Amino acid sequence: MPTAVRDHTVIAWLHEAQAAVTGRADYLTQLDAAIGDGDHGINMTRGFDAVGKALAAQGAETPPGRLLVLAGKTLVSTVGGASGPLWGSALRAAGRSLGDAVDVDGSQLAAALDAALAAVVDLGAAQPGDKTMVDALTPATAALRERLSAGGSIAEAVSAAAEAAEAGARATTPMQARKGRASYLGERSIGHQDPGATSAALIIRALQTAVTQAG
Ligand code: ADP
Ligand code: MG
Repeated sequence: MPTAVRDHTVIAWLHEAQAAVTGRADYLTQLDAAIGDGDHGINMTRGFDAVGKALAAQGAETPPGRLLVLAGKTLVSTVGGASGPLWGSALRAAGRSLGDAVDVDGSQLAAALDAALAAVVDLGAAQPGDKTMVDALTPATAALRERLSAGGSIAEAVSAAAEAAEAGARATTPMQARKGRASYLGERSIGHQDPGATSAALIIRALQTAVTQAG
């Protein structure tokens, strides 16, 4: 099992994320059609396609933090919807938190994911319970830390994070949206799973897949 996250793990993560949002694009768009404007699958696919191209143009052995900063900048510049700046800020903050580290250990990974979530909250001002991607990312970061501090490996910790993100996404269904476009619907947003929380869970699951493959 891997004891560190390296450049190839980050590249594998972002490619897995691209494949996941592309494979579920229609579903993400359906979720967004119910409580938003029906572009979430398109936004995420466009953004992560551009990330894939940007990474392909990188030299070998770029540190994980730099790859994440590049991915974040790419998302901000290619995605028009709310999710572009939010995910862009998240990945840039994660990348800045890692600096030029070549081998990222569990506590650096946990700090990077905390920085990503903090950036989303800084920009979007959503709290847990507001029916946004924050409802997937908050339990994911908590589960990652908990599993690491209980002595778990990185692989076990990201697995717990992915499960927590998926449970967090499902838990958005009965919530009333208080941020983003879905909030315009008021009570009519209740009863639908949040698209951004759903794609956030896909992205955390993609991290788990990448870490497992690296091992
Ligand atoms: P847009 O709403 O501009 O069409 P997307 O459809 O791509 O953008 O993304 C919608 C998702 O963005 C929502 O499902 C929600 O999870 C997330 N989101 C929207 N506003 C916020 C916010 N202020 N904070 C956190 N996440 C948000
Ligand atoms: Mg939308």
